[in-house]
Amino acid sequence: MPASDPSSSLLALRGAMLSWNGDPFERGDAAMAFDSDAVVAMRGGRILHAGPAAGVLRGLPAGTRVERLPRDSLMMPGFVDCHVHYPQLPVIGSYGARLLDWLDRYTFPAEAAFADPRVARRVARDYLDENLRQGITTAAVFCTVHPGSVDALMREAARRSLRLIAGKVLMDRHAPRALRDTAKRGYDESKALIARWHGRGRLGYAITPRYAVTSSPAQLEAAGALWREHPDCWVQSHVSENADEIAWVRRLYPRARDYVDVYVRHGLAGRRAIYGHGIHLREREWRAFAASGTAIAHCPTSNLFLGSGFFRWDRAKRRDRPVRVGLATDVGGGTTLSFLRTMGEAYKVAQGAGWAMPAAQAFWLATQGGARALDLDGAIGNLAPGLEADLVVLDLASTPFIAQRMASVRDIGEALFVQMTLGDDRAVRQTWIAGRKACDRDDAGAPPQARRR
Ligand SMILES: [Zn+2]
Repeated sequence: MPASDPSSSLLALRGAMLSWNGDPFERGDAAMAFDSDAVVAMRGGRILHAGPAAGVLRGLPAGTRVERLPRDSLMMPGFVDCHVHYPQLPVIGSYGARLLDWLDRYTFPAEAAFADPRVARRVARDYLDENLRQGITTAAVFCTVHPGSVDALMREAARRSLRLIAGKVLMDRHAPRALRDTAKRGYDESKALIARWHGRGRLGYAITPRYAVTSSPAQLEAAGALWREHPDCWVQSHVSENADEIAWVRRLYPRARDYVDVYVRHGLAGRRAIYGHGIHLREREWRAFAASGTAIAHCPTSNLFLGSGFFRWDRAKRRDRPVRVGLATDVGGGTTLSFLRTMGEAYKVAQGAGWAMPAAQAFWLATQGGARALDLDGAIGNLAPGLEADLVVLDLASTPFIAQRMASVRDIGEALFVQMTLGDDRAVRQTWIAGRKACDRDDAGAPPQARRR
């Protein structure tokens, strides 16, 4: 790292701080650690100290730069988006369809455009810049069937020093010809992408069969083999989102016991495997995911937008076999990259299935819970010494309307609940990546640094 790189010198931020000392699904609000006056000290891309200001400041060398955050700021871990399709940015907010129809009418035409690497590069830049503006510091991203769509995203993520997981979509049937690979070609291209990107800086590769409908048994078999050869890679796909999809999978895989069993029998379940949705899973499927350590990415805005159904938290978090779950935008089926909006919709989706979600659970899912679902909680998801310094600074009074409501909140839980119910991107004041400020709402007109070409 060059000596002029600001992340190599010690820098401290001072303000209110939210961090975690447990899982609120197990410990309730006691899992939240809130300090109204805290310091996070960072060096070399990592957090050196984080805690109450008095204690941390005493331990810092004289002359350390301490930046005091503006009033109403809250430092917290950056948001982790566990499931998103960056090529669908250009079709977000397309009218009126359920899942299978949506794929045909919007997704596939949008993804076909990624045969052109210039399109991939432009959308990758737009996507990552928007992530930084929204406080999303890590994401697990579906690209398209074209290897160039991965190269474009990884290159832009590397320029921004992001921790990012992504993979080329595997799809060898039930899709337009231009978007199909074959079991062999998908395997070969994925293997080459793993060699090129996995473990480079903070980048990771995800073996990415879109879902059981668009992959033949031979392709799922090849994906499972690839994961056995590269067990520290991730696997990402979709499961049990929509009734028509589930019925189709049953017809295509008559020997499987259920949808989850299709993936299990092809060696695609386990720690570092994460599946979008899981809305209609049955008890046997939940048990299979829990036993294997497989995670689910809950995508509330997408589930509402496509009319897919209400995620069952009572089943996901059954005490005797809790399943790892992270929160996700699922753009473009999802309707926003705002994590505050996504948390607010997660609350409503949970209500629809009889689960009142406290703010502690929602904020945990958006940060440490997501990191745990991706098996990255040893690196990100909290503000604690040794972790990578990815954080977001919220403005808890980002609009006059929110400010008037905040005047009467009694504790941090209520303050966070107001943010996730009323807040949006205007509440994201700063985003820090690997100890460097990557985006600042209040730097009027200044584009994110990585955008300069
Ligand atoms: Zn998806």
